[in-house]
Amino acid sequence: MSSPPTFQPVLDRIAAEIDKMPERGHPADYIPALAACDPRRFGMAVAELDGTVYGVGDWRRPFSTQSLTKVFTLALDLAHEADELWEHVGREPSGNPFNSLVQLEYENGIPRNPFINAGALVVTDRLHTQTGEAAGTLLDFLRAESGNENLAINEDVAASESAHGDRNAALGHFMASYGNIGNPVPVLLDEYFRQCSIEASCADLALATGFLARHGIRADGTRLLTMSQAKEVNAVMLTCGTYDAAGEFAYRVGLPGKSGVGGGVIAVVPGRCTLCVWSPGLDGHGNSVAGVTALDRFTTITGLSVF
Ligand code: GLN
Repeated sequence: MSSPPTFQPVLDRIAAEIDKMPERGHPADYIPALAACDPRRFGMAVAELDGTVYGVGDWRRPFSTQSLTKVFTLALDLAHEADELWEHVGREPSGNPFNSLVQLEYENGIPRNPFINAGALVVTDRLHTQTGEAAGTLLDFLRAESGNENLAINEDVAASESAHGDRNAALGHFMASYGNIGNPVPVLLDEYFRQCSIEASCADLALATGFLARHGIRADGTRLLTMSQAKEVNAVMLTCGTYDAAGEFAYRVGLPGKSGVGGGVIAVVPGRCTLCVWSPGLDGHGNSVAGVTALDRFTTITGLSVF
């Protein structure tokens, strides 16, 4: 009898290759908690549709999720208000860095997509209006999908984000001047900084992303998104999830993906599995160097890609 298929040998092979990588990039340095991370750390997890998880390296070690959370707030807001959201945020790649302000003035305070900071601020603002507690709603969702009740916001990181948050504050106030923010900007910023400061592991995040591989179905079998909405989120991840390097990511990895400056990257193989990889060294676009390389190797070795 042949043994069931497993991703473990693929992960072990990738980890051995990554171990030999001489250049891992540099951790984000805008707050001390991220600057202190060791760029040689590496973890990777793959979750199958039924919740079976495989992992290697630091795959159970919590890290700062940062912009990975933008995927989940987008999904949660779409679940609440559906297409109304798209009147307030676009879905085109920006070709600019994640924290850029430049396009907002030309587009009347409507951000280009939900995954640059401006767009994520709009999504968080709207989720906060819908639920009364954006970061709390997000945390509950991540705990439920990962099965890990211990997931938490690192309040020290949130305070540090706030202390270094002038640019996000500028984005919030600028969009408020166009009427595209509903809550008081300080309230929105507090929710956004707490959202970014949630800590979770590769295993937690691969599991929490599962609904996107299951075409909108949550871990408990209930539906979060329609099939079309799940497709929409995957499409926006593919085109906008890695900022001004989204073309290169699609070319190399060939999967919907989303990065965060904590060094995490999540990716989806619709109908098959989800992945999360973590390594804190970033390239100049804010994407994990070893993380993108590991996903590139995964799709090359397995042939799993949306193309
Ligand atoms: N907290 C970061 C910021 O808002 C998140 C950005 C990111 O992960 N790309 O600047």
